[in-house]
Amino acid sequence: MTLPLLDGLPPEGLSPERLAEVARKVHRPLAEVWGVVRFYPRYGEEKDGRYLVDDPVARARGFETLLRQADGTHPPLGLEALAPVFLQRKRGQTLVETPQGPVPLSEHTLPFSLAHGQRLLPPEPLLQLEDYRAWGGLALLKAMAEGRLSGERVLEGVEEAGLLGRGGAAFPAARKMRQVAQAPGEKYLVVNADESEPGNFKDRFLLEHNPFLVLEGALLAAKAVGAGRVWLYVRWEFQAALRRLEAAIRALEEAGLLLLPTEVFPSGGLYICGEETALLESMEGRRAEPRLKPPYPVEKGLFGRPTLVNNVETLASLPVLLREGQAWRREEPKLFSISGDVERPGLYELPLGTPLGEALRRAGGEPEALLAVLLGGAAGVFVRDFSLPLKYRGPRPIGAGAVVAYNRERDLFQVMEGLAAFFAQESCGKCFPCALGTQVQLSLVQRRSRDEGLLRDLEATLRGSLCGLGQSAYWAYKSLLEVEGAR
Ligand code: SF4
Repeated sequence: MTLPLLDGLPPEGLSPERLAEVARKVHRPLAEVWGVVRFYPRYGEEKDGRYLVDDPVARARGFETLLRQADGTHPPLGLEALAPVFLQRKRGQTLVETPQGPVPLSEHTLPFSLAHGQRLLPPEPLLQLEDYRAWGGLALLKAMAEGRLSGERVLEGVEEAGLLGRGGAAFPAARKMRQVAQAPGEKYLVVNADESEPGNFKDRFLLEHNPFLVLEGALLAAKAVGAGRVWLYVRWEFQAALRRLEAAIRALEEAGLLLLPTEVFPSGGLYICGEETALLESMEGRRAEPRLKPPYPVEKGLFGRPTLVNNVETLASLPVLLREGQAWRREEPKLFSISGDVERPGLYELPLGTPLGEALRRAGGEPEALLAVLLGGAAGVFVRDFSLPLKYRGPRPIGAGAVVAYNRERDLFQVMEGLAAFFAQESCGKCFPCALGTQVQLSLVQRRSRDEGLLRDLEATLRGSLCGLGQSAYWAYKSLLEVEGAR
């Protein structure tokens, strides 16, 4: 694993000597290690200055004016509910500007007042084991440790619930788990906590405020499929979440409830790291470029072994659905990150199928005053139908659950330019349709093109991309033109 060896960098960054040492340790050519290091922004040089966090909410709120106050932009950090937000970089330290003053990025957590829910979102942050136990947690983990809960029962519970993966693709969770459970030999579980989707801050919130719930779900799933180890692959910028998870792992270990070796793996800091096979590539020490499928990770994942890769919210849902059974199924709870032009932006736990208009009203939004909503983040679509039920299946799937509201004053083309720039920047460059298509899309959006022929070609090109990043990059643009046409 190359990336962990690069941690604990000296203040002057990565020296040639340090890289040569890493190359020797991992028995790889120096050129290859350089190629890996250059790929991840985490190891890049950071210039001092003031940076605007460039998310879909900041884009809507006078981006050009905000940019004049900044020295550049920084990719989304899950701060949409607080946007616009600036970062200050100085002397090797990054600070988040908040109304209360600058806070070190390493300390910055999402305020708890953003949470509105019950099952996944506790009334207060649960950072001590005893608090989590008092909230009703740990009982299942204890039952499994004492042999009163079998892995098969966990699998059946997930099957009965019909849980769909919460990472965006909505793949049936039980089907993946069964495949790994049936695979022979050594197996692993990887928690995908590399949330980088603009508009989404649900996983970051869970990691920062309810880390034991994520760990309990991960350990139950790992035991159920027969995995021998658990890794939590966490976006490295979420440093408070990383620390809280590590503390929670230690507390479980001391309580004798860490059923399997479990460790945190800080990611490299790119959107593509959230694609499950790119994530595995990066854990194996290479550039985070998606693999050709099949084989799927459930057959051949980390280090060639069957691997269950699940999103944070998917695993956090496990203890809750196993505890509640029928009640969980009646009103299947889902987290929605609601931001933009609503009075109370934040994280809302709502039953799947809630109409979009009702979700917006819960957050203090008035659908009548809105121009459109970006549903599902960068890989999502602009919609105007506020009666739309928020579901996974249907013409407008919810993706990971981002809802960004725009009032009638907003310039959606400016928002779209941010999304197009994001895709062009985050394309890993492995396949030509995406590497070219995302650049062309950016130039078309900048020209505010409505040329139907060009747009058809762009769509056809991007559709031929290897992974979801390229394949979904055009959806927002296409839906923007539909929404604009309806005005
Ligand atoms: S679609 Fe884009 S991100 Fe995905 S493999 Fe191709 S170039 Fe990389």
